[in-house]
Amino acid sequence: MPGARAGRRWRACRAPLAGPVQAARPAPLSARHPSRHDGQVRIEAVQGDITTQDVDVVVNAANSSLLGGGGVDGAIHAAAGPDLLAACREVRRTRYPDGLPPGDAVATDGFRLPARWVVHTVGPNLHAGQDDPTVLASCFARSLEVAVELGARSIAFPAVSAGVYGWDVAEVARIGVGVARLWEDGVENGGREGHPEPHGIELVRFVLFSPAALDAFEHAIAASGRSDDE
Ligand code: ADP
Repeated sequence: MPGARAGRRWRACRAPLAGPVQAARPAPLSARHPSRHDGQVRIEAVQGDITTQDVDVVVNAANSSLLGGGGVDGAIHAAAGPDLLAACREVRRTRYPDGLPPGDAVATDGFRLPARWVVHTVGPNLHAGQDDPTVLASCFARSLEVAVELGARSIAFPAVSAGVYGWDVAEVARIGVGVARLWEDGVENGGREGHPEPHGIELVRFVLFSPAALDAFEHAIAASGRSDDE
């Protein structure tokens, strides 16, 4: 978690979700090839388990039911404990009775996770013919928007749709990093491009399970044209 920087523009923080604030635990991960641009948003890729991340928001690659699944979804529910499933049931009952649509995102508390919140997003399922990259881009963008609404400063993403949902991890990396860069640009350009408003996000971390996925995200970060040296 990077420290506060002078001159950063803040949006008013609000905490719409009740729930315990979890004690922070250090993330035993080593960042490789981090990238920062003018001190606004740090974008990095690390190999590891997203459930151990000491960030404000962990993004879950959920399915529309929000009632748990395999892969990263199962790992997040297992680590967060049964209160997460209860919170997801409540979200379904109150806000998404027909399920969360692909490309959208919704928050719950993080319960036993180090992260304060989980933002659940539903990636497109290539095996079901969902091959629209704008839907996948929307997963990353909507998750960032929800994180800003929560007042989060740091967010960790898995490789949404790159597992059971069948997308090529290089494509996921290109899209996810591209969205993060647009946000970076939106802040720097005073809202003319990318995200339209100032926000409090300092860190976007992609957390990849496999070395191959890490390589894909590192390549995407490098290919998107910035490094700490610039
Ligand atoms: P989807 O259904 O959206 O494809 P999956 O959970 O099947 O989601 O896989 C998404 C990505 O998350 C895959 O690259 C998978 O290897 C990875 N993954 C699985 N468990 C974890 C974890 N605990 N931390 C980080 N990434 C994980």
